[in-house]
Amino acid sequence: MGIAEKYEAVIGLEIHAQLATQSKLFCGDAASFGAAPNTHISPITMGHPGTLPKTNSKAIECAIKLGLACGSRIENNNFFARKNYFYPDLPKGYQITQHTTPICVGGAIHIKSKEGEKIIELNRIHLEEDAGKSIHDLSDTDTYIDLNRAGTPLVEMVTEPCIHSAEDAFLFVTEVRRLVRWIGVCDGNMEEGSLRCDANISIRLKGETKLGTRVEVKNLNSIRNIKKAIEFEIDRLIQITESGAAILQQTRSFDANSDTTFSIRDKEDANDYRYFPDPDLAPFQLTDKYINDIQSAMPILPNALKKSWKETYALSDYDIDQLCEHKEEADFYTIWTRQTTHYKAAANWVMGPIREYLNETGTNYEQLALSIPYLVELLELVDSHQLNFSVASGKVFKAIIQEAQSPKEYAIKNNLLQTLSNDEIEKWVNQVLMNHPEKVNEYKKGKKGLIGLFAGEVKKLSQGKADPKVAIQILEIKLNQS
Ligand code: ADP
Ligand code: MG
Repeated sequence: MGIAEKYEAVIGLEIHAQLATQSKLFCGDAASFGAAPNTHISPITMGHPGTLPKTNSKAIECAIKLGLACGSRIENNNFFARKNYFYPDLPKGYQITQHTTPICVGGAIHIKSKEGEKIIELNRIHLEEDAGKSIHDLSDTDTYIDLNRAGTPLVEMVTEPCIHSAEDAFLFVTEVRRLVRWIGVCDGNMEEGSLRCDANISIRLKGETKLGTRVEVKNLNSIRNIKKAIEFEIDRLIQITESGAAILQQTRSFDANSDTTFSIRDKEDANDYRYFPDPDLAPFQLTDKYINDIQSAMPILPNALKKSWKETYALSDYDIDQLCEHKEEADFYTIWTRQTTHYKAAANWVMGPIREYLNETGTNYEQLALSIPYLVELLELVDSHQLNFSVASGKVFKAIIQEAQSPKEYAIKNNLLQTLSNDEIEKWVNQVLMNHPEKVNEYKKGKKGLIGLFAGEVKKLSQGKADPKVAIQILEIKLNQS
């Protein structure tokens, strides 16, 4: 048994997700990313004396949506608390957060790991405001502070210590990112800090049930870094334990250049934040009706959608996973397949030419003016062999977007239909075989792959008007005659 196999890693994650609201959690300042520094900073954000916070109901709604999507229990009686600590980018000297009453309790996220489906249990999801941003790399001597982010609404999702590998942590965060985007509560942009993760990691001997001393790696800002940091920590903790030393409870940071972590502080066991209910904010009650109304307006979730698709469409798990990656794409596919039964062909179009077009043009489904009836017609043309797929995807598809005309009309006008009769195709086949006597010999000696070359030649000579399937059939008949 290798050393690593003696141990089990135990990981709990805390994910901060910035909620996709227009304004901040307790005032009307814009919550958007990327503005000039210190331009979204009203006296409330700055914590000036005499100012009064007011809770943004959109943020509460977003938190509830996320909780419902995770199957959490939604707390009816909530209040905000002050968590007191000093930090240069925390102008009030305290953070408004939830303490004993997280808005969402329990729940779970399902991941599909190599060993099968796993349920990652959540401890809670609570609402809190973000701090500002300290910028250390603009000057050698000074730290700059941008308070635009101060007061923007966050949810913090906390898992139970029930993840046991870096890979599963990776899958978990990937799933969370998809889910928050799917239900529209967070844009999931890790590069912009909309989704950040702290990873708590410990190890114990296999079979042991007590938790080991943990380290916490702060502010991981990409899914890759989360995985790398956890892998590094697991190895490091095993090495320390094997050497006979004790693990120190620490807060650490990740260095993406070397894929290693370093200590930023030894963690005191009990921070005293002097939590108390914020006297400026009244407790807020959520009625069951309010929660149920949010529930009824929720979109179908990816896992439920996948299940229903498996029953409706004869698609592979891979295709279904792919199509359920982004809600806009899944919605588009859903609308399209209400009007066609060529489910697999439509899936291929979505994952092929349509994605390619969106990538090339840097656009999204919202901006894509693509008529579904035209797409249905296009699919029919290909399916009935009137149009070759590469012509359809290469030329006709772009024309129906850019020139907004019927694919059939466009194909006729531009002489693109595969209009040749079998007799006409046979003439081209004969021509091709005559042009390539040596290749014909090689084919007959067993180099069957040459069929592709012959078919390509027929396509060229006929200028794409010979149905390739028919051409191949005729080619095979001819070539197998002695
Ligand atoms: P804090 O608020 O001090 O960060 P919490 O008790 O709320 O601490 O836990 C934060 C996260 O750390 C949770 O995801 C929890 O599952 C995880 N965690 C707690 N103890 C351990 C441990 N010994 N090993 C791994 N993860 C842990
Ligand atoms: Mg923590």
